[in-house]
Amino acid sequence: LHGTKVEKKLHQQMFLLLKYLKYLCLIHYRMKIKKFILVSTCFIMLACSEINMYDTVVLGGEVYDPTKGTFQKINFGVIDGKIAVKSNEPITGKDTIDATGQFVYPGLIDAHCHFVGYAAGLMTVNLVGCLSFDEMVERTLAFSKANPDVDFIIGRGWNQNLWPDTSFPENDTLNILFPANPVFLTRIDGHAALVNDAALKLVGILPEFIEGGKILRKNNKPTGILIDKAMDLIEIPTPPTHLLIQSLLEAEKQCFAFGLTSLADAGLDYASIMLLDSLYKANLLRIPINAMISDHPDNYFPFFKSGPLKTERLQVRGIKVYGDGALGSRGAYLLAPYSDDAHNRGLLLTDKAYLLDLGKKAFAAGFQVNVHAIGDAANRMVLETFAEILPVGNDNRWRVEHAQVVNPDDMHYFSSHKIIPSVQPTHATSDMPWAETRLGAERIWHAYNFKGLLGKAGTIALGTDFPVEDIDPRKTFFSAVVGWGNDGKPFEKYDESKLLSRQDALRGMTIWAAHAQFEENEKGSLDIGKWGDYFITSTNLLTCKPQEILQLQVQKTFVHGQLVFTKP
Ligand SMILES: [Zn+2]
Repeated sequence: LHGTKVEKKLHQQMFLLLKYLKYLCLIHYRMKIKKFILVSTCFIMLACSEINMYDTVVLGGEVYDPTKGTFQKINFGVIDGKIAVKSNEPITGKDTIDATGQFVYPGLIDAHCHFVGYAAGLMTVNLVGCLSFDEMVERTLAFSKANPDVDFIIGRGWNQNLWPDTSFPENDTLNILFPANPVFLTRIDGHAALVNDAALKLVGILPEFIEGGKILRKNNKPTGILIDKAMDLIEIPTPPTHLLIQSLLEAEKQCFAFGLTSLADAGLDYASIMLLDSLYKANLLRIPINAMISDHPDNYFPFFKSGPLKTERLQVRGIKVYGDGALGSRGAYLLAPYSDDAHNRGLLLTDKAYLLDLGKKAFAAGFQVNVHAIGDAANRMVLETFAEILPVGNDNRWRVEHAQVVNPDDMHYFSSHKIIPSVQPTHATSDMPWAETRLGAERIWHAYNFKGLLGKAGTIALGTDFPVEDIDPRKTFFSAVVGWGNDGKPFEKYDESKLLSRQDALRGMTIWAAHAQFEENEKGSLDIGKWGDYFITSTNLLTCKPQEILQLQVQKTFVHGQLVFTKP
């Protein structure tokens, strides 16, 4: 505790005790012994009550220790945002939380998500799953009513194949409802958009022909459907900063409601990192973020020059690189062709020479390198490159993000070079219906092997990758330990030997996620001296039934000792 605020507080309390002793010494001369004992007892009680004054005390809860993997019924007190005491004796505080019969967990850490991207997405209409044209229009209208400040309405995710009429929609209704505001609604695959006339007007005169794109017309008038390159005709404005801030605060609220108290944003540009920094300085944003820098010299050079950045809530000490694409779109880079596409091995997005050069620069500047690698060929390239830069047994904690398909011959790098697998269990359960078609019966055994990775690395960091997946960390835990589908039902075929134990999954969402970003001494467990980041619930995640995991309700969430969420 040396040099910390807690130490300062303890000093103050020692002085307080001495002050009371001084008064006692002054008055005891004038008293008889019986009276003296009475008065001194009163003084000591008074002193003790003030000494034991914590900002918040949490009493009677079953407190989870992820390192041991057990609960312990114990009281704890928080001073200046940090855990200052754990005791079986009663303690008092300015605020008292009665957690009797409840379970208290260290706050969850999402080791890989896209928080700023998620917040930006909140400023758009979610059209995924609309079952009719009318539903798409209703959602767009509801969004515009709820967000009167948004001038240019952007929506994503419609799919006319789910509608009664599967032909492309037209923009007449949007023109009536939104005569002045541009509306731009992208189809689920990102290859087409429905826009209104107010949006088309921004282009001026529409060209007859566009290379690589199409403007659909009916009776010589555009229908509002733009295909591929034609979508680029309309420049979508970047949202005003004040709206982005509003969305960041809304996104933070959603995190707190799930007991998330810390995040790692997997790829931010310089401007976004500076925006976060200013929001912390203005005491607006409260959720601590470990920001990975996006792979572009404009983003990382300023940080490589000044060295890692560390404040109470913001850390910048890692760079995020994309090794390959994703499995669903056959962009993941494989050692052998896709089982359902004999001439395709996917695509390497970053070659070895580039990664080697960037890795050496990052190593010299004291930064972590975190590379997205999904296919077994991408994983091999990344692991071999890391091994060329990092000494055996180093503690630089470089990470492979996703590590989805890893050839057994390459697994040893995780232990020899202490490389951390950072995985998202919901990807496994989301991909399960089609993953074997892409990979084939044999390769699927080397995919999503959480337990195998943990066995080699001795640690594993868990995340959600939201907004690619749902923000809900209950699903991460459920997928990691139960391995059933997102509908909460078992798959016909799933290799359960790859799943994690409940204790290990909780470690991956707390102490190991903290370790993966060099913060295990300040968060990830409720030990004295660490931040008071925790949540309270009535669910015992070690013993509850599988379905009960998805029903867990967070009662209260605290970040740096401050109450940030109470269940309504
Ligand atoms: Zn990601």
